[in-house]
Amino acid sequence: MAPSEIGFVGLGNMGMAMARRLPAAGYQVVGYDASAEIMREIAGVDGFTPAPGITGLGTDVVMLCLPDSDVVEHVLLAEGLLDSVPAGGMVIDMSSSDPARTRALAARADEVDVTLIDAPVSGGVSGARAGTLTIMVGGPPEAFDLARPMLAAIGKRVLHAGDTGAGHAVKALNNLMSAAHLIVSSEALIAGRRFGLDPAVMLDIINGSSGRSGSTENKWPNYVLTEKFDAGFSIRLMVKDMRLALGIEHATGTPSLVSEAALAAWEAALGELPGDADHTEIARWLDRG
Ligand code: NAD
Repeated sequence: MAPSEIGFVGLGNMGMAMARRLPAAGYQVVGYDASAEIMREIAGVDGFTPAPGITGLGTDVVMLCLPDSDVVEHVLLAEGLLDSVPAGGMVIDMSSSDPARTRALAARADEVDVTLIDAPVSGGVSGARAGTLTIMVGGPPEAFDLARPMLAAIGKRVLHAGDTGAGHAVKALNNLMSAAHLIVSSEALIAGRRFGLDPAVMLDIINGSSGRSGSTENKWPNYVLTEKFDAGFSIRLMVKDMRLALGIEHATGTPSLVSEAALAAWEAALGELPGDADHTEIARWLDRG
């Protein structure tokens, strides 16, 4: 299977930036999103064709970039997308979904001779635009080999994480770490500023020191200090990922004291901010406390 057309469902902040990489690599995108505004937008994008409906993609390969497993299951099962994929075809769930539910969906897909693999991403909207995403794939090795050239059009590092669900598991755990880094580095940087230090100077020091992370190297300088708060990843989706990761920690009997404290803080922020607020707003929210 070497498709020239790829169906792409879910063209929001992340999906649109990812799908826009495909035409440059020679793939035509047949796109679908529940938003009428997005469907109008893609009608004018080179290399994109708007699908007439969720079951009208007509491609052997369908990529999904949807909010969560609830929506992925709804689209595939209730809305009939899975039954519309030709036998021998492939669904690549690039959303950050629940690994256990992904495994169950893959078994359902197998019944209609469709391979479903997971391929969530890390690197944010800016990384998607630049083509520098890390893509972590869960699925059988032969499915990984088939998907790899298509995924390489979207991301820079395409890695086989393990069996079906492995990509979704490592993605959730990655985001738990990222969320914990952002909250603890925000607390430390706010404390430093209140102590009289310049946050830009602190970041310069820390980014060559052992406290550095993606939060100090990217999120604080680019989205917090600039007061742009527009990384393009919502606080609601971050909390969703943290809950998935906590589920894995609990299911495996892993100590989760700090993870739970981090989740409680993020949930408190989510309770006070709009769900679609950018996740970097957590720093401003903390600064109000
Ligand atoms: P988003 O809310 O911007 O986009 C989701 C899109 O799905 C929207 O355009 C929405 O209209 C569409 N949608 C919802 N229900 C639908 C349906 N039934 N049929 C068709 N389309 C439907 O979210 P996002 O930030 O693009 O995130 C998408 C996924 O990618 C999430 O799982 C998220 O956790 C993950 N992710 C996001 C980022 C990021 O930086 N934004 C980074 C890595 C992973």
